[in-house]
Amino acid sequence: ATPVSVMVGTGKAAEMGVLFRKGEALQTLQEAQVIALDKTGTLTQGKPELTDLQALEGFDEAELLRLVASLEKSSEHPVAQAIVKAAQGRGLELSEPVDFEALPGYGVGGQVGIYRVEVGADRYMARLGLDVSAFGAEAARLADEGKTPLYAAVNGKLAAILAVADPIKEGTPEAIAALHRQGLKVAMITGDHRRTAQAIARQLGIDEVLAEVLPAGKADAVKELQAQGYKVAFVGDGINDAPALAQADVGIAIGTGTDVALETADVILISGDLRGVPGAIALSRATLKNIR
Ligand code: ADP
Ligand code: MG
Repeated sequence: ATPVSVMVGTGKAAEMGVLFRKGEALQTLQEAQVIALDKTGTLTQGKPELTDLQALEGFDEAELLRLVASLEKSSEHPVAQAIVKAAQGRGLELSEPVDFEALPGYGVGGQVGIYRVEVGADRYMARLGLDVSAFGAEAARLADEGKTPLYAAVNGKLAAILAVADPIKEGTPEAIAALHRQGLKVAMITGDHRRTAQAIARQLGIDEVLAEVLPAGKADAVKELQAQGYKVAFVGDGINDAPALAQADVGIAIGTGTDVALETADVILISGDLRGVPGAIALSRATLKNIR
């Protein structure tokens, strides 16, 4: 490619809020066959709300929410922020947890007053040796609505099921439709519950779902797609996404995302609007056509 056509291309991209950090990405982007996207904060707003809380008999729901939120105050996970916000909205007095521990991709635990509290995904409860099948039907119903089911345990006993929902970003459905029109395969890579991920993918018409991927496994998920023979562009926003952004043939970061993601990416979507992805691909194709 001539430096001039690349300059013109990157200039046009900047006008639509797409920043090419590396000129060569303008060329590699038109070779992409699969666009893989992180879910939380990329396809969705990354601002979940607590939508459901159902306690087993013998547990008071307000007290449970207070205990769980007290614990989550020490976590920076979007799920934690949703729970804390819900508790504060109900005017509950939170206390400081002791011995707080976070297991990335699983959940959190700690001591709140006289109680040992744990909250997290079903696989976290499984690690603790707790059976969550009492909530089986409820969890399936919540996940099919695209909500993330979570569980709380108090003093080693399963106590409640909770759910959070993270709204889809405004430009997401249109972006995916445009990618399909461009002939691209669209995949989702997420740490979230499989059934929840599948419900959201169905809603958006996403072709392939890689769910329950642990934070360290996202780069491997990209490798898996590459091993199938695809050139892959990965779109993500989080610290967890940096290795996948580096592994991908083109790494695209959400401008409002974490610094590590921005530093690793080849391309940045300034406002986080996913419509910039098909926009950049169209530009990339047009630029290369002009050169040939
Ligand atoms: P993602 O960013 O795609 O949601 P993560 O790997 O960060 O993936 O988290 C995966 C799952 O682990 C979450 O969907 C949630 O069920 C659980 N989890 C992680 N951190 C917490 C937390 N602080 N509180 C409750 N659950 C958590
Ligand atoms: Mg994310």
